[in-house]
Amino acid sequence: MNLFTETNLSPDILKAIGELGYESPTEIQKQTIPFILSDIRDLIALAQTGTGKTAAFSLPILDMIDDTSRKIQLLVLCPTRELCLQISKDIKNYSKYMKDIKTTAVYGGSSIVDQMRSLKDKPQIIVGTPGRVIDLINRKALDFSAIHWLVLDEADEMLSMGFKDELETILRETPETKQTFLFSATMNKEVERISKNYLTKPHRISVGSINEVKKNITHEYYVVGYRQKKEALKRLIDANPNQYSIIFCRTRMETQEVADFLMQNGYAADALHGDLSQAQRDTVMKKFRLKNIDILVATDVAARGLDVNSLTHVIHFSLPDDPEVFVHRSGRTGRAGKNGISMALIKPEESRKLKQIKSATKIEINEKFIPTGEDIIKAQVGGVFEKLLTEHEDIFEFDNSLIPDLSNFTKEELVHQLLQFQLKDLALYYKDKHDLTEQKLSSRDDDYSRRDRGRDRDSRDRDRGRDRDRDRGRDRDRSSKPRRRDENMVRFFFNLGKKDHLKKLDVLDIINKATDDGKSKRRAEIGDIEILEKFSFFEVEKSFKDNVLSNIQSMKFKGKDMRAEVAN
Ligand code: AMP
Repeated sequence: MNLFTETNLSPDILKAIGELGYESPTEIQKQTIPFILSDIRDLIALAQTGTGKTAAFSLPILDMIDDTSRKIQLLVLCPTRELCLQISKDIKNYSKYMKDIKTTAVYGGSSIVDQMRSLKDKPQIIVGTPGRVIDLINRKALDFSAIHWLVLDEADEMLSMGFKDELETILRETPETKQTFLFSATMNKEVERISKNYLTKPHRISVGSINEVKKNITHEYYVVGYRQKKEALKRLIDANPNQYSIIFCRTRMETQEVADFLMQNGYAADALHGDLSQAQRDTVMKKFRLKNIDILVATDVAARGLDVNSLTHVIHFSLPDDPEVFVHRSGRTGRAGKNGISMALIKPEESRKLKQIKSATKIEINEKFIPTGEDIIKAQVGGVFEKLLTEHEDIFEFDNSLIPDLSNFTKEELVHQLLQFQLKDLALYYKDKHDLTEQKLSSRDDDYSRRDRGRDRDSRDRDRGRDRDRDRGRDRDRSSKPRRRDENMVRFFFNLGKKDHLKKLDVLDIINKATDDGKSKRRAEIGDIEILEKFSFFEVEKSFKDNVLSNIQSMKFKGKDMRAEVAN
């Protein structure tokens, strides 16, 4: 089945989806449409947002729905008001030419009296959030006696939002003869439990395995200390001009803080989280869809209801605990055949979490360095030319006679001058700024001299694989130079180096393991890490000195013994 016209869907449905530009079914639609049309079993479908789930269940159901009956036949439950509105809008579009079919959305945060009034229209399809559906059941405003299909959309999300009791009540209140379709992006214990208790011998389908969907997304991570995270974020934004992105945070407070920081720094950004009123959330989403703002800072839950296909970047300001959430977030970019970039800011002590994400998702996530001022200006210049070559602005008119005689300038001189005007503020901002990568790994020295910076930049280039030969034999010279140190840190000599294929991430992991005694609630602070050819140096908070000394010698790296000593 490669075209919708090869399905058995009715001409009214085919006409409606044809107008929406749907030609071929998506992967999940290929699997669910024939199943729902011909099978009476329940269904568990593992699929992420953006895979075409709504059409996957609603098209075959619309095909079979009885339009002569005015009783509710399909109930769709979903986690948020936004998703509820989106799904009901989609179903209304698909049933545009089915004049007797009515769909009503019911959700919290809006007048229940108005919704009860709209139920008087006798819709056959209800799309609702669990809480509001329960309220309406309690007010005896919903008659579920003729329900034929129950869809649980984003079941994992509904459960993680605490709708467990509501879901179980609704599952019990609806007729036993119904067919239940459970859609979920992840299959955790809770989802398994619900399906075991309430679904009968369900057929299972799964689409878009994690890697399959993500091939066109490049994954990067940047290690940065907590205190420099916002500045690092600013640099990532500046180094990726013309972006349209979502920045994911863990908490509502963090989301607001990051958005405030960006707005204060002049970016067209805003926050989306659960502390905002519904009207405020609607306004923010509208601004983002219309591209009045091009950066949205959001919590995972709040971003769920947002349906945008053209994101260029996803930035993980904070890592999620669940690797699947990482995949979910990243999958917001790279849609509709476009390429996408996912960038994660990682605190030094999060190396283990990053490893877990890498191994659970099998995604290749490459370490990159926080862009320097120089990198940023280069990227901005590139961004100006990209815009020049791809966009044509015609906002205001002006008379060519206003252009003076410029024949004394060459083309390059003119372009140079115009770029100077255009990028002046940015260039001035970064002119005397320290590079963050070095700051994060070195000990927050404020009077870090220009020479040191140049030297560290060299060392970074070497890390990147350039000038490998040049640094042979220089290790001792470099490490013996006096450096200002943080008094709270102890500097260790470590017996492994580049020749042992040791990476910074490995060192972070080793330190985290050595300092985690299972008792301390707090993680050790990690300072400078310097990996040289044959050995390395790293800094760890003083109070963890003994843990490092005693634990490292009993650990192995790629089969090799490890040894750490306090450096002179
Ligand atoms: P969903 O996963 O249901 O949120 O759908 C994601 C997006 O894909 C929505 O914008 C749909 O309108 C669109 N879509 C769904 N099915 C198809 C299809 N077969 N062809 C083109 N676009 C589709």
